[in-house]
Amino acid sequence: NVPPPVVELDGLTKRYGDLTALDAVTLDIRAGEIFALLGPNGAGKTTLIGCVSGLVIPTAGTARVLGRDTQREYRETRRVVGLVPQEINFDPFFTVEETLRFQAGYFGVKLSEARLAEILDALDLGRKRKAGTRELSGGMKRRLLIGKALVHDPKVLFLDEPTAGVDVELRRDLWKYVRRLRDQGTTVVLTTHYLEEAEALADRIGMIDRGKLLLVEEKAALMRRLGRRTLRLQLAE
Ligand code: ATP
Repeated sequence: NVPPPVVELDGLTKRYGDLTALDAVTLDIRAGEIFALLGPNGAGKTTLIGCVSGLVIPTAGTARVLGRDTQREYRETRRVVGLVPQEINFDPFFTVEETLRFQAGYFGVKLSEARLAEILDALDLGRKRKAGTRELSGGMKRRLLIGKALVHDPKVLFLDEPTAGVDVELRRDLWKYVRRLRDQGTTVVLTTHYLEEAEALADRIGMIDRGKLLLVEEKAALMRRLGRRTLRLQLAE
């Protein structure tokens, strides 16, 4: 009873000159799961997200989202994929609502009042609707960044190191929102170099290093098999 894959990678490879940023990655991501791609800096996580979302052109192999080739059908891909970048990138002089409306305009979609309310509600930003984004706390800014990626109601949400450089308390708080989105039916793929983040959030974990996908496993099984200490050691190598 395995649900159909939302994301299918087949031999996905990206080279920059002599450097292989992604090395023949083959992977299925299932509907409704949180998949964590765990790996150190420079492992190829951002490149993988770029290839899947159509922003980076692979050297070889294919990436499909909902059965569509993300390179050949990048316009359709864009409509079903939500992308949360590492860096906060909204206008400090916009309000929360303006930020979301502007993003919807950018996507060419009409943001209904109902959808706007849904996003604000899911991210507990309703009370800040009319606040300027520069007045938001760090956690709220991170949540608004996620909200921006939701305006066109994507089927799969990619978060690129959503809590990099964020303190522990705030990180835990953000996890709550990521789970909430998954519980509401969005498939979530996140990259991280924090083991505890993968452990806290993921249904399945993929470990990537130097462009190679080293293993993919159910989180629970991986934790049982390796134990935290071993996993940490493997990552530190
Ligand atoms: P980080 O955690 O630092 O974001 P990452 O796992 O996301 O790391 P990538 O950003 O995908 O890793 O980078 C993988 C490798 O590809 C790195 O060695 C990086 O320097 C290299 N790389 C990425 N983009 C380019 C580019 N446009 N030109 C040349 N090399 C690149």
